[in-house]
Amino acid sequence: MERFPPELLQEVPCCPLCGGTDRQVVYAHSPCIDVLRCACGLHYSGMRFTPEGHDAYWQRYYADEHVADPEAAERRRLMYRMECDHLLRHLDPGARVLDVGCADGGFLDLFAAEGHVCFGVEFSREAAAKAKEKYPVLVGEFPDLDFKEGFDAVIFRGVLQYVSRPGAYFGKAVSLLGDEGLVYVTSQPDMDCFCHGLFRNRFRFSPTPCDVIGFTAPLLEREFSRLGCRLAGETRFYEGTPYADPPKDVATVMAALTARAEGRDVEGTSPAFWGNMMTLVFRKCPKACGRRIREDA
Ligand SMILES: [Zn+2]
Repeated sequence: MERFPPELLQEVPCCPLCGGTDRQVVYAHSPCIDVLRCACGLHYSGMRFTPEGHDAYWQRYYADEHVADPEAAERRRLMYRMECDHLLRHLDPGARVLDVGCADGGFLDLFAAEGHVCFGVEFSREAAAKAKEKYPVLVGEFPDLDFKEGFDAVIFRGVLQYVSRPGAYFGKAVSLLGDEGLVYVTSQPDMDCFCHGLFRNRFRFSPTPCDVIGFTAPLLEREFSRLGCRLAGETRFYEGTPYADPPKDVATVMAALTARAEGRDVEGTSPAFWGNMMTLVFRKCPKACGRRIREDA
C-alpha cells in the first residue's frame, strides 16, 4: 500500500497551533505535499490524513511498525532507559505518571520498576489492550478524555508531531498537573536542528501527512510558559544512543554538505546526529508564579 494514498489525504487550511494563515512554503516534501512554516514558528505539512486515513494508519501502526522489527524494538528499549533516567532526576518518589501515547506500556514499565504509579493513554486499541494488562489506560484522543485523577508528570514521548490540535494537548496536560507537576517532551524532532536545515525533505523527521507538525525548543517553551510552566530541564540525546554512529553519521552529513555546495540534490535520508531530537522538562509553577510569567510575556 502506498504510504500516503491521495484519496486518504486532505489539505491543512491553517496552522494547527495558532489557526493563522500567514505561512511560507519551506520546501516541498514530495510533488503534491509542501512543508509550511507559520508566522508563529510551527512547521507543518500542507496535507494530512482524512479521519478515515488517520484511523487506518494508526490501527495498523502497532503491528506493522511498533513491534515488527525486533532490532528496532531493542534499540527503542535502550532509548527508553536513557529517557527514563533523565526524567527520574526530576521526579519525587511514588509519583503518578501518565504516558500519552503509551503504546503497549513499555516506557511506563521502567517508571513502574522505580516505584512510580503508572497510567496510560493510547489511540490504538490493539496497543492499549496490551498496556491495560499492566496499567489503567484510556483509549482515544487525549484532550477529549475525562480523568478522575491528577498526575505528577505527563509524558509526551515521540507523540506531539502526530497530533492535529497541539494546543489542546498542552492545555490538557497542564490542567491535569498539580503545582510543580512536570510535562516531559522527549524523542521530539527539532525543526531548528542542523540536519533539518541541510536535508529538508530528506530529514528523517520532516513533517508528512502522518507526522504532520514540527516544533522547535523556543516554540514549545513559549507555549508552556503561556500555560504557567517553566523549562526545568533540557538535553539532546545522540552520542551513547543505539542510533548514533558518529564516523558514519558525520560522513553522511559531509556528503550532503558537498552536494548542496555543488548545487546537487541531497541523496538518502539524514542520519542520527547531534541536535536532531529534543528532550525537555517543563515544571508547572505555583499559581502566583504562573500569573507573573503571563504578565511578563
Ligand atoms: Zn501558527
